Amino acid sequence: MTGVRSMPPVAPRDDVALMAAYHSPQIEVAVRLNTNEAPGPPPPAFTERVAAAVREVQWHRYPDREYRALRAALAGLHGVDPEQIFVANGSNEVLQTLCLTYGGSGRVAAVFEPTYALHSHIARLTGTDLEVGERADDFSLDLDQVHHVLRSRRPDITFLCSPNNPTGVVESEAVVREVLAAAPGLVVVDEAYGQFAPWSALALVDEERPLVVTRTYSKTWAMAAARLGYLVGPRWLVRELDKVVLPYHLDAVKQAAATAALDFVPEMKARVASIVEERGRLIAALGDLPVDLWPSGANFVLFRPRQADGDKVWQGLVERSVLVRNCASWPRLEGCLRVTVGTRAEDDAFLAGLAEVLA
Ligand code: PMP
Repeated sequence: MTGVRSMPPVAPRDDVALMAAYHSPQIEVAVRLNTNEAPGPPPPAFTERVAAAVREVQWHRYPDREYRALRAALAGLHGVDPEQIFVANGSNEVLQTLCLTYGGSGRVAAVFEPTYALHSHIARLTGTDLEVGERADDFSLDLDQVHHVLRSRRPDITFLCSPNNPTGVVESEAVVREVLAAAPGLVVVDEAYGQFAPWSALALVDEERPLVVTRTYSKTWAMAAARLGYLVGPRWLVRELDKVVLPYHLDAVKQAAATAALDFVPEMKARVASIVEERGRLIAALGDLPVDLWPSGANFVLFRPRQADGDKVWQGLVERSVLVRNCASWPRLEGCLRVTVGTRAEDDAFLAGLAEVLA
């Protein structure tokens, strides 16, 4: 290759130069259970609707900057006002817009580890100072620790994640209310896996509370390919986000796909119910193997082989064409692996492979 230099001619921001890129390694395998996707696509009728919408797109025109049809449809789904909805290209972009608006230089975001790595990554990228609190040994929020962080650093943004990725823990309503009452700034409850859990913080959203709940189309809606996420929050907050996000950030096809998906709520609910049932089967079967595991309110399960090295188990599964998420080297998750709930056949392949590796 020509043009390869040992030293690039321009340097990035110092903090970016020191950062590691976030990625989930993809390997060609038969059974992919590493990124918490849905095990199958949305119904064919949805694909037909999107195809028809694509034929109608006015390609020479910018899309509706305010994505009014989509906002109205999501507002209808959640029984809120369209002005309480903000949509972006994946819930990661929603989180980024929140950090750009309420974080940034001289401001602080708090996270409680172990939790979704992108909360701290996006905070850092937006120049927001990070305060890292620890969870209790069972990965639940340690309220003494939370109060200490909120008092000592007075974070502008406090991230919660329920169900929490990668542990699967669902925060109780009492805990979320307590954090909300004590937090000096914005509280973000990331509910990427919200529909798999027994309760949602959505009911707590109102004009008085500095609370937003983020959701994604990537998991329950089986639309990870579309890159769509949104939040429900107070109107005054959504108005600020609208100023910060780039103009026309949601293209016309995406708006149409996101709106069409909401006509398939019963199918989505059936999919979620079957994943939750399969999660029960997976957890029961894992319980028969020499692993420690944590209860999960999401579409994945975190587990730790008792007598085997996490990296070696991960490698052994890859050799059997099963890919799970290797958390073994993540802080506070020594030796842990995370498996997404797949189809029955995929989960059986995973369980058989794991039993072999552990034998
Ligand atoms: N939040 C959590 C907790 C997640 O696990 C993920 C995806 N792994 C996201 C947000 C981002 O989802 P997306 O950008 O696909 O909407």
